[in-house]
Amino acid sequence: MTDILKPTIVGIDLGTTNSLVSVPVRDDRPIIVANERGERVTPSVVTIQQNEILVGELAKSQAVLNHENTISLVKRVMGGDQTWNCQGRELTPESVSSEILKYLKGVAESYLGYEVTGAVITVPAYFNDLQREATMRAGELAGLKVYKLFNEPTAAALAYGLQRNNDDHLLVFDFGGGTLDITFLEVKDGAFLVQGVGGDTRLGGVDFDRLIVENARDYFKKIHGPDLFADPLAYQQLLSHAEKAKVDLSAVKETRIMIPYVTVTKKGPLHLNMPLSRETLESLAAPILDNIHRILQESLESANLDPNWVGSVVLVGGSSRIPCVRRLLAETFPTGVTFRYDLNPEEIVAIGAGVLAGVMAGIYHEIDFRDVISHDLGIEDDLGEFVKLINRGASYPLENDRLFTTTRDNQTEVTVHVLQKAELEDELISLGHFTVGGLPPAKAGEPDIKVTFSIDQHGLLQVRAEEVNSGVKHEIQLTLHPKRAGNTRRPDDSKTVSKEPQMD
Ligand code: ADP
Ligand code: MG
Repeated sequence: MTDILKPTIVGIDLGTTNSLVSVPVRDDRPIIVANERGERVTPSVVTIQQNEILVGELAKSQAVLNHENTISLVKRVMGGDQTWNCQGRELTPESVSSEILKYLKGVAESYLGYEVTGAVITVPAYFNDLQREATMRAGELAGLKVYKLFNEPTAAALAYGLQRNNDDHLLVFDFGGGTLDITFLEVKDGAFLVQGVGGDTRLGGVDFDRLIVENARDYFKKIHGPDLFADPLAYQQLLSHAEKAKVDLSAVKETRIMIPYVTVTKKGPLHLNMPLSRETLESLAAPILDNIHRILQESLESANLDPNWVGSVVLVGGSSRIPCVRRLLAETFPTGVTFRYDLNPEEIVAIGAGVLAGVMAGIYHEIDFRDVISHDLGIEDDLGEFVKLINRGASYPLENDRLFTTTRDNQTEVTVHVLQKAELEDELISLGHFTVGGLPPAKAGEPDIKVTFSIDQHGLLQVRAEEVNSGVKHEIQLTLHPKRAGNTRRPDDSKTVSKEPQMD
């Protein structure tokens, strides 16, 4: 084994379709650890079979026979209140995710030969507080101390060491199994600043698989008659062969889908043997490519950027290997843009998580990078003006406070309306509000109401307000993360805060 300084912290990419674990190694990039099947990528699928919990390929391959007890795509419902009842066991998104994390913890432990106690876990940049908290809880349930929830696009950029290069403007294009995540990152003085996010939570590699499956169904019908979709086993086989054919066609121009005995009729067994070319797949996929093109344009627009802003495109996610997707990107951005795909796009997020895990374990010293706040944060005063408490570009964790006061005599309560200043100069986004009640009687301007903003290492914002003399206080936890394209909204102007920033 290479020189490992016994790290007990690992990096985990807890993906929608696939998950990976990486272990930091001194003087080298983190290693992606293969599971007991020898695979570096573990499907994010969980099932219960005879009271035993199965994770990964085993769970995925038995899905067809045990559909109602198999859970996949759990990441899509993190932070929600969906539950599943599997063989009498109540499962939550957290508990399902924790099974995947436990499995990966075990994978790393068998490789290292000792216990792993902590992890850096990646999350999409747009994950809100609820989704982040659910991910934290999943980590804890798996017996892992979560050292950091790390934004996936930042992890990808860190894997390439892009914080060390000159200042740059990145488009992180993460096209996975079921999602497309687009992030614009500014690299400045070793810090990553999120400039905008966009994407589609329902667009990914499975959409290509579906096209192939439908094509094969039509082909089979024409030649043999029966509808393969009517036979669940045949359908499942078709799905997995279609995915394989798609992956092949990223490397070769022609392939063949061969499934002997795919279905049985009264006349006997039937076989599927269908040629498929890259050209055919690309013509079938034209609507998907149009979609990606539109999403790219919308994401640029909503971040107020034009294609010339982009200096480098970082390709992430297995589906970013598809040649026509790469071609589309090359056509969308001007020549001179650097395309980064030298690292394995499926592994890069886990590598970035491993780099940070290594920094936290004291294995990597020299890495200087910071995740910074991408928007000004503050509250609304009684005149409806934005009063800033935290500057964009500040690295976190951090804390800042400011004194406010009342505007009326004997005012008993104040409302704190927390705002984020969006990319466009005047656009304010309401993050939430709360009321501090029960203030002791006092003249207008006398109470000292201290409002404190603190952002922890996971990027979670907490806002506290306290009347300093009486000790009356209130606090809330808020979402600080960038909303996706099309999701921004103006603050509700129903009730403004009756407060005035104190001159100091
Ligand atoms: P996620 O982030 O959603 O968990 P991944 O980044 O692991 O997912 O991407 C998984 C998707 O990538 C799957 O749909 C898989 O079929 C696809 N994929 C993996 N390798 C290739 C390839 N060489 N060509 C095309 N698609 C690929
Ligand atoms: Mg991913």
